[in-house]
Amino acid sequence: MKKDFIFSNINKLKGVGPQLSKYLKKKKIEKIKDIILNLPYSETDRSKIYKLNELEIGKTQSIKVKIKKLNFPRIRNLPNKINCEDETGKIDIVYFNSREGYLRKLFLVNEWVIISGRVNYFNKKYQITNPDYVTTLENQDYVIKNIPKYDLTKGINEKKYRSISEQVIKNIPLIDDWLNSEFLKKNNLINWNKSILNLHSVKESKNINSPSFRRIVFDELCANFLALSENRKRIRKRKTPKLFNNSYVDTIIKSLPFELTSSQKKVLNEINLDLISDYRMFRIIQGDVGSGKTIVSLLAISNIIKSGYQCALMCPTEILAKQHYELAKKVFKDIGLKINFLTGKTEYKKKKEILLDLSNGKTDLLIGTHALFQKKINFKRLGLVVIDEQHKFGVKQRSDLAIKGGNECDVLLMSATPIPRTMMMSLYGDMDVSKITEKPLKRKKIITLSKPEKKISEIWPFIKKQIELDNQVFWVCPLIEESAFLDYTSAKKKFKLIEQKFKKKVGLIHGSLEKDEKQKILKKFLEKKISILVSTTVIEVGIDFPNANLIIIENANKFGLAQLHQLRGRVGRGEKQGICILLFKDGLSKKAVKRIKILKESDDGFFIAEEDLKLRGFGDLIGYQQSGTKNFRFADPINHEDLFRLAENYIKNINNEVNHKKYNFLLKLFDKAEIINFNKV
Ligand code: ADP
Ligand code: MG
Repeated sequence: MKKDFIFSNINKLKGVGPQLSKYLKKKKIEKIKDIILNLPYSETDRSKIYKLNELEIGKTQSIKVKIKKLNFPRIRNLPNKINCEDETGKIDIVYFNSREGYLRKLFLVNEWVIISGRVNYFNKKYQITNPDYVTTLENQDYVIKNIPKYDLTKGINEKKYRSISEQVIKNIPLIDDWLNSEFLKKNNLINWNKSILNLHSVKESKNINSPSFRRIVFDELCANFLALSENRKRIRKRKTPKLFNNSYVDTIIKSLPFELTSSQKKVLNEINLDLISDYRMFRIIQGDVGSGKTIVSLLAISNIIKSGYQCALMCPTEILAKQHYELAKKVFKDIGLKINFLTGKTEYKKKKEILLDLSNGKTDLLIGTHALFQKKINFKRLGLVVIDEQHKFGVKQRSDLAIKGGNECDVLLMSATPIPRTMMMSLYGDMDVSKITEKPLKRKKIITLSKPEKKISEIWPFIKKQIELDNQVFWVCPLIEESAFLDYTSAKKKFKLIEQKFKKKVGLIHGSLEKDEKQKILKKFLEKKISILVSTTVIEVGIDFPNANLIIIENANKFGLAQLHQLRGRVGRGEKQGICILLFKDGLSKKAVKRIKILKESDDGFFIAEEDLKLRGFGDLIGYQQSGTKNFRFADPINHEDLFRLAENYIKNINNEVNHKKYNFLLKLFDKAEIINFNKV
């Protein structure tokens, strides 16, 4: 097999036609290399030959039997049947839809054969229907062994897949390993070709700490990190430095009712250094909910404008955009900037005006939703794009955005999702990261309480009092509707119950409502026309409801720690003391008790994210789910933490190597080659 052959389509393999291709595609197996990466998850033990009186119904077993008689009933829908026996009993081998000629060749009366398949029992007789293997005694070695089992879907039979996968695995070309043997040895890794061979035996593929598995993990991480660092190089091109003085910032800071925290000052400074540097900025601000990212971005915006450029501030939702727009008008009042607001709903005439002002440079700052990045929109001199709550963007999207902004445009993202250290590189390896690590001083820590659900009656009077005090309440449920399978509280049911108690003061919002409908309800809540908002987790994104001070979260153990922390960050954003009540079903596990304790004691999103990772594993981390960067296939940040660090350093070091060619194979193997090219599209 030639080296590049493994990147061809699977239909280049013998025995793979259009039908099978279709089924394999469902399993994400499209190229030959996908077969290499599709590791067996368990094995079927066909190694022992059972006597017929030892068979167990439902188990896959191998038998050695003598063929007695072949039956081909000429009646539609009746299966063909082959009677067999050994010294201890009888069995029928049953075939649906198979050709008589084929069976007559396979089964010769009075011959002995080895048969392997799932044993069942029908009409008081053992039978195997459509056996996986039938072979002569001479060829029995092929069947009677531990055979790796792959995760397959309907339409692909094990035997067929095995024949294809063996075809590939046995013929993998010898790769010029990009890791040298010294490095491999030192880090308990193994040569690529050897590792792949090993991994197709179950013992190695199940042991995620074997040198072979570690090797594939390291490769996966390197491919990811290398792609990110290439992306970074493409974006961090030279630009004209932006020159400004601090007069705008000084004016604004003087007008603020608070002082910036030292964290905020530090981050602003890091941004400013990027702005005046002659490389484009590609930076993300990470800061817990309520850490004050918005004002930092507005100050950076004012500097860009001072330098003679225009800015765009993009938000994931219309309400958030509107909130930022109102804030920006206030903050920039004294320096008199021209700000416009644009969403998908802006009416045609108004939109035309806005577009004109943008293209002739009248507008300094445009705030809005993703409508800001339609093709028709042309800035005269765009100098900075800020994207709030960016976790909805994957690597490709933010890269596209950076490209769209043009060569002079700096890019700043903001995210309230704290990411554990180990995963920073895999999520934001292409960006510089600034962290706001402290909260505004006067902000009171949210009081977090927990209660068993059956004592819910104790909190009604408390809620009633909150409403009388003109406070507002979030009530979060894990599901929209009742489910027959899950014992969770649904938002709809809870809404009915609460509505009975509090009449018109209650609203309901959930993910399956139309976008407009959601916005309408949130607006009502913001305008205090609703006191209690029952919801699913749709309220997570950074909207400021300064008047909401109480959040109740049902089935709190259903959520990850980081998610609970984000949810409770919805309250206590104004003057009022924020309170979070976590409701639980009875019988909490030790782990659950530990989780509540962490939440009660800590207010630090970064710390909580680390703990969440340790307790739940990274599949549950919101950062991962939302970023569009799906979980790694092989790497696990807890188990392979050392490899995350190793790969990070490795990529940093090879970045100085001029020739990246030798990594092409690696990038292609993990479908990362396009990332390097996608900016050219
Ligand atoms: P987030 O980082 O979650 O986006 P925001 O930027 O929305 O946080 O800020 C939350 C609230 O904190 C806002 O009402 C903002 O005016 C206020 N705030 C920001 N910085 C400070 C500060 N240094 N001192 C006091 N309040 C602040
Ligand atoms: Mg925010």
